Amino acid sequence: MIDSSIFQGKKAAYFTLGCKLNFSETSTFAKMLQEMGVLTAAKGEEADICLINTCSVTEVADHKCRQAIHRMVRQHPHAFVVVTGCYAQLKPEAVSKIEGVDLVLGANEKAHLIQFLSDGFVNRNRVSTYKTEKTKDIKTFAPSCSRGNRTRYFLKVQDGCDYFCTYCTIPYARGFSRNPTIASLVRQAEEAVREGGKEIVLTGVNIGDFGKTTGETFLDLVKALDDVEGIARYRISSLEPDLLTDELIDFCAKSRAFMPHYHIPLQSGSDTVLKLMHRHYDRQLFADKIHLIKSVMPDAFIGVDVMVGCRGETPDCFEETYDFLNTLDVTQLHVFPYSERPGTAALKIPYVVSDADKRERSKRLLDLSDEKTHAFYQRYIGQDAEVLFEKAPRGKAMHGFTKNYIRVELSPSEAREEYDNQLIQVRLADFNHDQTALRVENLK
Ligand code: SF4
Repeated sequence: MIDSSIFQGKKAAYFTLGCKLNFSETSTFAKMLQEMGVLTAAKGEEADICLINTCSVTEVADHKCRQAIHRMVRQHPHAFVVVTGCYAQLKPEAVSKIEGVDLVLGANEKAHLIQFLSDGFVNRNRVSTYKTEKTKDIKTFAPSCSRGNRTRYFLKVQDGCDYFCTYCTIPYARGFSRNPTIASLVRQAEEAVREGGKEIVLTGVNIGDFGKTTGETFLDLVKALDDVEGIARYRISSLEPDLLTDELIDFCAKSRAFMPHYHIPLQSGSDTVLKLMHRHYDRQLFADKIHLIKSVMPDAFIGVDVMVGCRGETPDCFEETYDFLNTLDVTQLHVFPYSERPGTAALKIPYVVSDADKRERSKRLLDLSDEKTHAFYQRYIGQDAEVLFEKAPRGKAMHGFTKNYIRVELSPSEAREEYDNQLIQVRLADFNHDQTALRVENLK
C-alpha cells in the first residue's frame, strides 16, 4: 500500500521526447501522480519531481534526451529526477551517470512508476536503475488513454514489435508485441466520452499486430470502438502496409466514426532496399493498398513515412523511390534521414550514403510532399466541412482539422472559447498566410 501523503501538494514537471505513444504515456504518468495528490508545476516554477520520457529513434534523439535531462536538472535543482522511455531502456547505465538523475525506469518497470518513485522519494535513494535486461523479458503493458492538454485523446492499444526491421532499435527498447483486451479498451473509450472526449487517436508501436496477446484481431477492435457512442472521430496513428487488410479498409470506409485518414510507413519505394530493411511487403503491395483506399474513400488523406539514405540506398534506388511516390496518390510525406544505430543488423550492409546525399534526398522528397499536400488542400477550397476546433490562447487564431485531416484556421476575431472541442460546420476558403491551413469563409 502506497502512502499518498508523501506526495500531497508536491509539484511535478514533465518533458517528453519522441512519438505520440510517448506523449500519451507521459499524460498517463501525470494522471497517476495527480491521483496521488501531485500538482503539475507551472512554467518557471520549481518542481519536486521531474519526469523525462525519452526516445532513441536516432543518434540525434539520444543527444536531445541528454540535453533535456541536463536542462531539467538545471531548472529544478532540488527535484527527484526520473528518466524513462526508450533511451532509458537501451542506455540505462549512461543515463544513471548523468548528474542529478535519481531513478531510471525501463520498459517493464514504468507501469509501476508510483511504487518505484515512492521508495526513492521517501528514502531519497538516489541513482537507482531498474531495467529488464532482455527484450523477451519485457512483458508488462502500461495502459494509457490521455488527452494531456490537447483536444484529442490518445489511446494506447498495443506496445512492442516483433518485426525487427534491420535499421530499428524499437523492439529492443519496447519488447515484443503485446496488447490489452478489446473490452478494456472499450471501457477506456467510454471513460473518454464521460470526460467530454470526441476524438481518439489509436496509438501503438505496430498497431496492426494487435491481438497477439488476447487472440483477438485489430478489425474486431475497430468494430467494437466504432460502436462506442459519443466518440465522433477515430484516427489510427500508423499501420504497417502488410497489416492494413482489405477488410479493414472496407470496414473503415463504411464505419460510423473512423476517419478517411491513414498514415502508412513505406520507408522505401525500391524493392531492393525494402528487402535490405527486412520489411514485410514490396512496392506493389503498397501501391495496391493506396489504390484500394482511394477507390473506397476518394477524400482520404494519406500520410507516408519515408526513410532516406539508409545503407544500400544507391542513387538508382532513391530515384525509384522518388518516381514511385511521385506517381502515387498520397497526401504528405514524413521524411526521416537514416541514422546509424549501434547493434542493428543494418550496420552489416556495406553501401553507406553520405550526409550530403541524405540532405539532398530529404530536400527533394520534402519538396514533393509540399506539392502533394498543397494540391490536396486546394481541392477542398470552397467546400463545406466539419471541423473539430482545438483550444487556443485568447486573441490568437484557432485551429482544427476536417475529417480528412485538413488543417483549418479561424481568425482571432472569429475565434471563440466555446468552439474549443466542438464539431463545427464551416465553408473552407483559401490558404492562410503561411500556407499551413485553409481559412474559414463562414461558420455554418
Ligand atoms: S515495424 Fe520495423 S520500424 Fe516499425 S517498430 Fe517494428 S521493427 Fe521498428
